[in-house]
Amino acid sequence: MPLYIENRLRWMREMRHKSPCKRCGRLYNHHIKAKCPDCGTLDSHELRELLSQKEVIVQDLRRMGWIFAILAVIAVLFFFW
Ligand SMILES: [Zn+2]
Repeated sequence: MPLYIENRLRWMREMRHKSPCKRCGRLYNHHIKAKCPDCGTLDSHELRELLSQKEVIVQDLRRMGWIFAILAVIAVLFFFW
């Protein structure tokens, strides 16, 4: 079996046992780790900082998605013009 398919199957098996953290939303295996690797050691103030950092990253990715969508539309318009 090709390496890519083996890696994909292993990833799917791992994802099946993961569930989101109730505090920060990160997916992790609750059977292996008792505490979330992201927020397990953080107090409420540090958790708020972590969540605001994640929100900034999500906003940046959303902005980049819009920029690439606009560039794709412009490229398609130039191609068919
Ligand atoms: Zn967490």
